[in-house]
Amino acid sequence: MIYTDTRDSSVQVDFKTAVMNGMNQKTGGLYIPTSFPKIDSSLLYKDPAPSFRDIAFNMAKPYVEGEIPDVDLAAIIQDAYPFSPKVAPLDHTSYILELFHGPTCAFKDFGARFMARTMSYFNRNEDSLLHILVATSGDTGSAVGSAFHGVPGLDVTILYPDGKISPLQEKQLSTFTGNVRALKVKGTFDDCQKLVKTAFTDTELRGKLRLSSANSINIARLLPQSFYYMYAALIVRNRAALQNKITDPAIIMVVPSGNFGNLTSGLIAREMGGPIEGFVAATNTNKTIPDWIATGDYNARPSVETYANAMDVGAPSNYERIKAMYSLDEVRKLFGSYWLDNDGIMKAIEDCHRMTGYIIDPHGAIGYKAWKDIYNGGMEKLIAGEKPDFNLPGITPNIPDWANKVTDKKAVGVILETASPAKFGSIVTQAIGREPPMPDRLEEVLRLPDHAIPMENDYKKFKDWLIGNLE
Ligand SMILES: *Cc1c(COP(=O)(O)O)cnc(C)c1O
Repeated sequence: MIYTDTRDSSVQVDFKTAVMNGMNQKTGGLYIPTSFPKIDSSLLYKDPAPSFRDIAFNMAKPYVEGEIPDVDLAAIIQDAYPFSPKVAPLDHTSYILELFHGPTCAFKDFGARFMARTMSYFNRNEDSLLHILVATSGDTGSAVGSAFHGVPGLDVTILYPDGKISPLQEKQLSTFTGNVRALKVKGTFDDCQKLVKTAFTDTELRGKLRLSSANSINIARLLPQSFYYMYAALIVRNRAALQNKITDPAIIMVVPSGNFGNLTSGLIAREMGGPIEGFVAATNTNKTIPDWIATGDYNARPSVETYANAMDVGAPSNYERIKAMYSLDEVRKLFGSYWLDNDGIMKAIEDCHRMTGYIIDPHGAIGYKAWKDIYNGGMEKLIAGEKPDFNLPGITPNIPDWANKVTDKKAVGVILETASPAKFGSIVTQAIGREPPMPDRLEEVLRLPDHAIPMENDYKKFKDWLIGNLE
């Protein structure tokens, strides 16, 4: 597969280059595949649906063709995914896609574990360390730390905004030793991301250290996230006739979004032939993308803190990829978009629990509420010409191509549950009046000692630290 660059379409690199560089430091652009090959129809129409790992192998294959032989790819997939996503019916119009059954209890395990193994594969004949720099708004750091911990030849430095992530999230990313460490930066997630991006474009630094990224900007994190969209879409299509009395439903993926890596992966699954009709881009108060869809103006802005803090992103990196793949007009036809403030998040967690019995986390809760509103009158009003005020929480005014499928009751929503509710215990407890169950692997990390290193939000200091402390 040939990969190009969002800022310069004349760029052509292979998978290894795209993975190992993370982004194109010359242009500052992000890598994307030049084509999205269709998945084999024998897999698409299998009943029962193929296993997650079968799908993963078949979807990954064209992107690594000629660079990773089948046996090695199969081993990477096998080792990356000892766990699977789970699809659970929520009510008669929606499913939950649980993506938190990996080691750190959030969806980022899917991308991080595949990326760690492909990087390790490509690094196998090198004798100098490869330094991974990663900025996190919460869950990236722990997923990346956990995925790379103990992998020979690789070394990881995690940057997170001091005081802006939950105590449990902090434990999950600051308790590593050996080849993984965390810097707590006096600033926001966007500041962390900027420090990392500046480091990648710093030729002097790159002359001293071999650097790579692990944010959702790395294509090796983005591609594997497309596997679970395909998996879920095939399962839901097979089940909907029986469970929802809808044959061949219009499947709408409802995606709680921050940096928009997860949603971009969904677009890839759809391009590859996944039976996905459309998407709902669901955000918290950091509504840069809903505003863009509503007005046509893209205005990156500083992030604000919310209860769904892994989505506190004011300048979403993957906007660049979405723009490279589709025009604004196409986006408006493919996406509904929706945002919710903190009060709405709290109420959504409570509503979901009361109506369905399901304990949902603050990120998934935005998706739940988005789908409820869209299904129960939201699309109907848009079609009838009632324009919502997009400055208030709710749906944006564009009418996606699939709007009629919703009003005709031919649509099913698949809400991506991006983290275990136990990771946001205090908010969930406040909303539903009891604590969500705590998985053992989270309980264990709480007992480990913290090794985070304080860092100013200052590029010069950050750079000096890297040069002084890494080799
Ligand atoms: C990272 C994260 C998100 C946002 O994902 P993006 O790919 O950045 O849009 C949503 N929910 C949780 C729990 C996350 O950790």
